[in-house]
Amino acid sequence: MICDVCKIREAEVFQPHTGRKLCRQCFIEDIKQRVKKEAEKIGLLNANKILLAVSGGKDSFVLADTLASFIDPSKLIAYNITEGIHGYNRKEQVEQLRKFLNDLGIELIEDSFKQSVGYTLDEMVEASKLRGLNVSACTFCGGFRRKLINDAGRKVNADYVATGHNLDDEVQAIIINLIRGDLTRLIRFGEKPLKLSSKFVLRVKPLRKIYEWETTMYAYYKGYTFQEVECPYITARPTLRAKVRELLYMLEDIRPGTLLNIIEEFDKIAENVRKGYISSTELKELPRCKICGEPTSYGREICKNCELLIKAGLLHQNLPIS
Ligand code: SF4
Ligand code: ZN
Repeated sequence: MICDVCKIREAEVFQPHTGRKLCRQCFIEDIKQRVKKEAEKIGLLNANKILLAVSGGKDSFVLADTLASFIDPSKLIAYNITEGIHGYNRKEQVEQLRKFLNDLGIELIEDSFKQSVGYTLDEMVEASKLRGLNVSACTFCGGFRRKLINDAGRKVNADYVATGHNLDDEVQAIIINLIRGDLTRLIRFGEKPLKLSSKFVLRVKPLRKIYEWETTMYAYYKGYTFQEVECPYITARPTLRAKVRELLYMLEDIRPGTLLNIIEEFDKIAENVRKGYISSTELKELPRCKICGEPTSYGREICKNCELLIKAGLLHQNLPIS
């Protein structure tokens, strides 16, 4: 079978959403071009500094590798956080990523919850259990990760923070927020990032139109080996996401291209949804947490992260009476 693009080399990959058979080189080029197109739309090509939030997994490798193929690597800086989860050691994965980043000419900053929050994730979870709190590890993990990534973006003066979320992640999140009827969260999705606080560095997802199976193949073809070690707290993840994922795979199977259609249609309506939402609720600058000074949701005095630490007995402040 000959590649449908170059018509020279042997085809190795079938791309169901385009119906094409591609050789390795044309497949890699296709991904790079699609990421470039997205990056151009978001405005990444004119950025002076972009912080890449990298986990060490395949998507972070694909993020760095594709961006470095059309953006000067000196404008990219990678940032990795060790959460401090026993038995979920991704040290080798990060070492492998460091080597690849080094070859691409991208610096890597390493951080940890212990260093920047004062506690490992395990310690936070343990303390919250002792206090009888019913808070999942993922709630601590997601909240502090977002905060640290934003802090890092500010510190290096980044115009954007880029994460490795792929098409599957993005569509799952859109559908979940639709199901929950959570418009406040839903309007954060869409092509253009939304800035609700001057303290937020704009967050972008250049891989948001690349299927997960494509990032897997890309990483594999580029020699990036990875073992996705499962986080021991994975069972604490919301089950709705797993169900939505299953459903979307089924639809994609019946009708290849479904996920791309969903995101492209969503992007078209997102702008209008935002406009309607903004005019109806007047989105103002988010209030600041009275403890840490970081942005928090409308109507809150202290942020969720500080509240969690206080409730877990890890931060000694009085909670405002609500
Ligand atoms: Fe963090 Fe939850 Fe993911 Fe584990 S499964 S890394 S606790 S968000
Ligand atoms: Zn706070």
